[in-house]
Amino acid sequence: MFRKSLRMPLRVAAVLTLCLPFLVACGGDDESTIRVYSGRHYDLEVAFTQFAKETGINVEFLYGGDAELLERIKAEGEDTPADIFMTVDAGNLWNAAQQDLLLPIQSSVLDEAVPEGLRDPQDRWVGLSMRVRTLMYNPDKVQPSDFDATDSYAGLGDPKWKGRLCMRTATSPYVQSLVAQLIDKQGRDRALEIVKSWVANDVNIIGDDVTILKTVNAGGCDVAITNHYYLARLLEDDSNFKVKPYWANQDGEGVHVNISGAGILKNSDNVADAQKLLEWLATTGANSFVDGNHEYPVNPDVKPDDLISGFGTFKFQPINAEAYGKLNADAIALMSEAGYR
Ligand code: FE
Repeated sequence: MFRKSLRMPLRVAAVLTLCLPFLVACGGDDESTIRVYSGRHYDLEVAFTQFAKETGINVEFLYGGDAELLERIKAEGEDTPADIFMTVDAGNLWNAAQQDLLLPIQSSVLDEAVPEGLRDPQDRWVGLSMRVRTLMYNPDKVQPSDFDATDSYAGLGDPKWKGRLCMRTATSPYVQSLVAQLIDKQGRDRALEIVKSWVANDVNIIGDDVTILKTVNAGGCDVAITNHYYLARLLEDDSNFKVKPYWANQDGEGVHVNISGAGILKNSDNVADAQKLLEWLATTGANSFVDGNHEYPVNPDVKPDDLISGFGTFKFQPINAEAYGKLNADAIALMSEAGYR
């Protein structure tokens, strides 16, 4: 099942039509062109233009919703003009692989650049940037030592946090993947107990991460869970924004992360150049791809941008994309059962 609900067909059509013909990032006189269908919207143009300049391989790309792009790839079949499917959320990549749309990639460059916990064990996709979903707190109200360093997400169910929590709606794929990982790691019963304990603490559920962080900043809640790059964006606009990140589970299994990533389509007719692009995005081109949205490079040899470097280093839980994908429906049902909306 798809992780994100289908958007309004009209809006989808508009998005795809507006983007047709493909946006183009041109290089030199080389005739080679690769085409990317992307559910990720940040910074593609900057990265692809740079790649074209360096390699002479042109990149055309098309934005859309993940579910729509997968449907399009399937409908186009062998005639698809696309070489690469790019998206956010490991569950979406798992979905594409599960539907047999992706070609396993044999690449020593990718094997070396992308840690094992951030790519498909069967090499059908790789993570290219990392997004960390962690605890965010107001330092006027909370000290890092107030948190459970081993099981930090579960720790927010402690009664001492009653009336002090803000979290994101159950419809967010970010929340669904976090809960799917809790189910995967701790079992369904324990995961249900954890989500129920947040609800028992009167968690204030808010529709987007930016509003959540602004609420923490304004003193409306003391602690929240959001993606790290939303804090980075707010800090970029206002260096006095007071919210701080706390890396969850550092004495335990590590903080929950998700990825932007990509795979090469089985029906690509330019596999070699498509592979070159993925290798470039994971190495030389990593900063042009991740910095604009303050995401972490997957490659430990690439330095994150200065702002998020300032957040410090962290240990992360390896991604089990199969769990994010397969347990998505369970996560949604569990939150509903717990009364988490
Ligand atoms: Fe986001």
